[in-house]
Amino acid sequence: MQFITTRGGAGISGAEAIVRGIAPDGGLYVPESFPRLSISEITGMARDSYAGLAAHILSLFLTDFSRAELDELCARAYARFDDPQIAPVKPIGGGFSLIELFHGPTQAFKDVALQILPHLLSASRRKVLEARRILILTATSGDTGKAALCGFQDVAGVDVRVFYPDGGVSEVQEAQMTTQPGENLKVFAVKGNFDDAQTEVKRIFLSKEIAHKLDERGTVLSSANSINLGRLLPQVVYYFYAYLKLLSAGAIEPGDEINFAVPTGNFGNILAAYYAKRMGLPVHKLICASNKNHVLYDFINSGEYNKNREFFLTQSPSMDILVSSNLERLLFELAGRDGARVREWMAALNEGGRYALEEDAHSRLRAAFSSGWADDEETGYAIRRARAERGIVVDPHTAVALAVAEAYREREGDRRETVVVSTASPFKFPSFVYASLTGELPPGDEFAVVSALSALIGISAPASILALPSLPVLHRDVIEVGQMKDAIFY
Ligand SMILES: *Cc1c(COP(=O)(O)O)cnc(C)c1O
Repeated sequence: MQFITTRGGAGISGAEAIVRGIAPDGGLYVPESFPRLSISEITGMARDSYAGLAAHILSLFLTDFSRAELDELCARAYARFDDPQIAPVKPIGGGFSLIELFHGPTQAFKDVALQILPHLLSASRRKVLEARRILILTATSGDTGKAALCGFQDVAGVDVRVFYPDGGVSEVQEAQMTTQPGENLKVFAVKGNFDDAQTEVKRIFLSKEIAHKLDERGTVLSSANSINLGRLLPQVVYYFYAYLKLLSAGAIEPGDEINFAVPTGNFGNILAAYYAKRMGLPVHKLICASNKNHVLYDFINSGEYNKNREFFLTQSPSMDILVSSNLERLLFELAGRDGARVREWMAALNEGGRYALEEDAHSRLRAAFSSGWADDEETGYAIRRARAERGIVVDPHTAVALAVAEAYREREGDRRETVVVSTASPFKFPSFVYASLTGELPPGDEFAVVSALSALIGISAPASILALPSLPVLHRDVIEVGQMKDAIFY
């Protein structure tokens, strides 16, 4: 299998695409075609472990890796999760289920891909780069940063620089990043929002001057953001896993269509669901859930993408995004895989901050996706309701998806089983969850709230979060966006 670019660029191997991260033409790597699985091939995987299923799905794409190599990579990647199922699927009543993707070491769904990406990248480096080092640049809205740091800690031949918006992440998220040890890692708070940091990282990637300077030091740039193919492909796996678990629980019959509701920011998670659908997984609607920054909701409904709007900081910070990078991969499909059309849309986005789909592309979009959004007030209400009516405690991102999924079911009368993708532990956002459940906040900092939340809901907080206040802060730099290009050389 070769990987071509969304802007019409020629194909390269999986290992090369993983090492490069972003394509030299500014586009993203996509599979030259989607491997197709029949219903009996899908049900045939029902007894695979999570790691076994992951190796199977990845082997359909990464044909330059041996199956034995992928089996080993996946077994290592998923050894650090605190639930033997990796991604447990739980019925929550009324035709809804939850797939919990937060059982990795940093309590957010990013771990599912970022625990395997370092292994994929190391193996890819051996295949295509020989002795050169890889420098990973990552802009984060909170969760990617910690997950990347944790996954890449002391990985040989790879350095990592993480940039997060100063004041734009939760206290727990910030402490997770600034206390991260590892000789090969550096973390910077950037004076700007996530989009500022992400745009600057993209600019650094495309700078010939910086590439040249790094090349002289025997280093190549790569990305751990969800634009990297090595992030995207492992996310396809849990959509199959969810389907198989519903089958074995008897909630659906082979071939039944289901829906997925996904709290969406950079569009990586929900795009992986779309890939699973294209591979033959019986999916009816992908429900794209946004917060008050609902540029994607407007796009799905109107066909026009317009980032010229006010940016809001919300209680679901990992979705505070106005330019969703991975959307370009969907655009490529909506354009009938015509890279020239994608180039035109992206040029319009660059110049005027907007583009509009033609009718054919918009109707393809609406056929596969539905959408909704919830502001902080509705999100808090959804957290309270989920506990009262379903007996579960969800984080604000999951609550957005749950609220949107419930509204979708009500509005459309669609009775298909709907899986809500749960992307973070409630203990990662303790203040908002606590306040939503009780209507008040206990005194003290966010870590005091972690303990109070734990007592309130009768679930112990993850040990790694409880340990944070006693860990030394190792990263304190606050920099301007313009200093990021120099910071990568520290
Ligand atoms: C990253 C993240 C999201 C958004 O996922 P995308 O792939 O960027 O759309 C949602 N919830 C949480 C908790 C996250 O960390």
